[in-house]
Amino acid sequence: MNLKTKLKTLEHIYEVYSGFVDDLDTVCKRYCSVCCTSNVTMTTLEGFRVLEYLDPKGEEVFRGRIQAMACEKRFQPKVTINRIAEMCMNGEDLPDEKKDEKSGTCPFLTENECPVYAVRPFGCRCMVSKQNCKVSGFAEIDDYTLAVNNMFLQVVEHIDSAGCTGNFTDVLICLSSGDKKTMYENEARYDPERTLIPNRAIKVMMIPPEYRERIQPILQALQGITY
Ligand code: SF4
Ligand code: SF4
Repeated sequence: MNLKTKLKTLEHIYEVYSGFVDDLDTVCKRYCSVCCTSNVTMTTLEGFRVLEYLDPKGEEVFRGRIQAMACEKRFQPKVTINRIAEMCMNGEDLPDEKKDEKSGTCPFLTENECPVYAVRPFGCRCMVSKQNCKVSGFAEIDDYTLAVNNMFLQVVEHIDSAGCTGNFTDVLICLSSGDKKTMYENEARYDPERTLIPNRAIKVMMIPPEYRERIQPILQALQGITY
């Protein structure tokens, strides 16, 4: 799959997810941004799309913010969702991947708004809470929605299996330095800081047995995406 096809596929995956969210009972709305933390993760394909969306001036502004965030504490995943699925299948121990909920805000958040909302990564899209996080201090997402979210995360990683996953800031630092964006376009994995982890294709889907039937229509919609 070439880059153009991957980007079109990603867009279509987001559309399918949007259809799922439309039917959810959620309180999420504009200017509600407690979930916009520095812990968001994404794939390199999603980071590439964010950088493509910013015009040169915007890129310059946000490059400064991203660099300022480089020394700040943030969640840096050790394994991708598809690797976790493989580890579960093999009965391996999972790494301890606790997020520090006291981490700062996303470097892009501007006056409680997301300047890249149209192209925000799946890690942002899947924050769909039944209660207001400002009141409760955390998002309430039911188990079925979490299962759906994991399925989408697996597919988003799968279509970028030649790329990497990492913290939002780390992906953008990597892609916006030197000729890394061009290298990414040419399918070269390059991360001198080793802050990103290589993506993998799906070997097994992490769908709990109790949701296998209910999730079928969404899975089929995802499987039907072809270019
Ligand atoms: S997940 Fe929480 S903070 Fe984010 S939009 Fe929804 S209610 Fe607001
Ligand atoms: S990219 Fe946008 S939606 Fe995602 S955490 Fe940052 S400000 Fe929020």
